[in-house]
Amino acid sequence: MSLSKSHYIKDANNQTNTKMLQILKKYFGFDSFRNIQEEAIDHILEKKDLLTILPTGSGKSLIFQLPTMMMEGVTVVISPLIALMQDQVINLQSNGISAAMINSQNTFEENDLIFDQLRNKQLKFLYIAPERFQSGDFLYKLHDIDINFFVIDEAHCVSEWGHEFRDDYQKLGLLKQNFPHIPITCFTATATKSVELDIVKTLGIDAQNILKTKIQRTNLIIRSEKRRGDGREQIASFLKIHADECGIIYCFTRKETTTLSDYLNKSGFDTLAYHAGLPSNQRDDIFLKFKNESVKIIVATIAFGMGIDKGNIRFVLHTSMPKTLENYSQEIGRAGRDRLNADVLLLYSKSDELGKRRFIDVLPESQYKQNNYQKLETMYKFAISSKCRHQHIASYFGDEIEECGTICDNCMDGEKEYQDITVEAQKFLSAILRVEERFGQGYIIDILRGSKAKRILDFGHESLSVHGIGQDLTKEQWGSVADTLLDIEAIKIVGEYRTLQVTIVGRDVLTKKRSVKIDKKNLEISQTYKEYKKDIVVDEQFEIFRALRTKIAREDEVAPYIIFGDKTLQQISQQLPTTTEEFLNISGIGQSKLEKYGEVFMELCHTLKFENVEEVTSEKVNKNLTKTYLQTKDLIDEGKSLDEILEIRELKDSTIIFHINELYENGYISQEQKENLFSPMIESFPLEIKEWIEEGLQSNDIRILKKYINKYSYLF
Ligand SMILES: [Zn+2]
Repeated sequence: MSLSKSHYIKDANNQTNTKMLQILKKYFGFDSFRNIQEEAIDHILEKKDLLTILPTGSGKSLIFQLPTMMMEGVTVVISPLIALMQDQVINLQSNGISAAMINSQNTFEENDLIFDQLRNKQLKFLYIAPERFQSGDFLYKLHDIDINFFVIDEAHCVSEWGHEFRDDYQKLGLLKQNFPHIPITCFTATATKSVELDIVKTLGIDAQNILKTKIQRTNLIIRSEKRRGDGREQIASFLKIHADECGIIYCFTRKETTTLSDYLNKSGFDTLAYHAGLPSNQRDDIFLKFKNESVKIIVATIAFGMGIDKGNIRFVLHTSMPKTLENYSQEIGRAGRDRLNADVLLLYSKSDELGKRRFIDVLPESQYKQNNYQKLETMYKFAISSKCRHQHIASYFGDEIEECGTICDNCMDGEKEYQDITVEAQKFLSAILRVEERFGQGYIIDILRGSKAKRILDFGHESLSVHGIGQDLTKEQWGSVADTLLDIEAIKIVGEYRTLQVTIVGRDVLTKKRSVKIDKKNLEISQTYKEYKKDIVVDEQFEIFRALRTKIAREDEVAPYIIFGDKTLQQISQQLPTTTEEFLNISGIGQSKLEKYGEVFMELCHTLKFENVEEVTSEKVNKNLTKTYLQTKDLIDEGKSLDEILEIRELKDSTIIFHINELYENGYISQEQKENLFSPMIESFPLEIKEWIEEGLQSNDIRILKKYINKYSYLF
């Protein structure tokens, strides 16, 4: 149900629009809106509730952040994960917008301070986890604040039909009870009709107010392939075309993440394993490394993902089939959020489907159980399908789109060679009918292959005319024939015992009204494996800018994409802006980014545009110390102390310490200079802390310690 334009009245004088565009440029660095952004913003400005269904990477944040900048009060954003909130808060701050987060890691004092700031209207955004609303005290405090509207991120968590249901989310219905006049805006990337209705009902918002865009992700290249053996050959080949790019490999079990990660590391890739069983500080650490790109590939269970708001994930590889198509689209949705192309590959096998089915089998009989079977079958059908993958996903979410033509394996020309298997299909279908559609796939294949298993003899099926007529194909090959028949809907699977039935299409095959073809490689016994190919054009100019970004990210202790997304960086490397005006013209650069990074990037642009380009390489940029280091160095040479340098430079002490270390490592200052600078600080350190640090105490340990001191100090 899309909201028609007539439902709302556009601002009659163009003032609002002009102001919107100004804010868009100033804070977010864009010149125009995309897809439904403007319509959604209008809606929020009119103080109406809103459910927005937008694929990832469609500019969701802007929809609620921009109108907030046109309002007086605070916007309260409810988000499921701390990491996700942290990212958003940092992002806002880097765009020059005040934002804070209340969470369980904060101390009471920190939270009180935030509430003071909220009451004094010093913050534009407050991020909170849904469980906060359980506290009456918290609700009470919220009433003191001028709230513009509530934002509920990942709203599908409200619904039991969704794949990420959360209790805390379901209780958000209390928002409308407690704040009947404050509008709610919620977002989700994937919602089927039933999830959509659940969200609207649970949160008590008007079902008229739903805005949707096409679900298709036009920058995702989707492939699905039968896994050969353990799939490692396929995985390594796929990774080769993504050398030096960020990506996630999803495994089904924890153990697989570590064994695969080990294997890949031995094969020359740089990966880390991640799963929910690791200690939380180790998980945080891996998360951070991935964000900062000190490791590019994470081999993980699905525990890794929800909190990642990283734009430049260039690939997502599934080593086995997910439970549902919703899970799958959510997981691949993490790739290519910067709207540049990304590759996703699904490796599946029949055993994945059977393995997952066992988990459902043990559930008590219920509608829920049937739904799960249904969802699993839909997922498997997607995996084996020969139809357009994008169309397949879209239609599952109730969206009709054309075949993609160029961005899925099934649409891409010349990739496949087909073989006619009409005769084999007829044998298979006859066997199903001969046993009166009362048996499953394994049994049918056994009959075709002439098995004398006890069960077959018990039923007297060894005397059937179809018994033993399929000995020319292996079990595996017959499995592929069955997959093809399922894909073209010539057969269907019925009930808990998974008996096979022949459909009308199947009868057409039997009467030769229709032929059946199979992707030849699915029938090959030797399973020769076609290597993935990609025309990699290494764009050295882009790499140079990437090196600069990495370096600044290290200096500023932020993730590279917080500085500029790949898309913005690409534009800089192509257009080489050298004036403030040209720089601001790049999409994604607003006033705050200009002030922070303009100078250093324009300096590089200038060099590349007007000076000897051959002299500049990404390696050199990486090694060269930027101006900020040299400023610190000048002060050291003048004989200034650490305290004096800190005062003059107005930077964080950790940043200056980092500078001094780098200057020393690169031979710009002597060891003596370094020690002289550091010694007053080291001497002032409490002995215990010195010892802790020497013993390898991590920053996370300190956070935990802080929490305990705050909470439990009265015990002593
Ligand atoms: Zn397609």
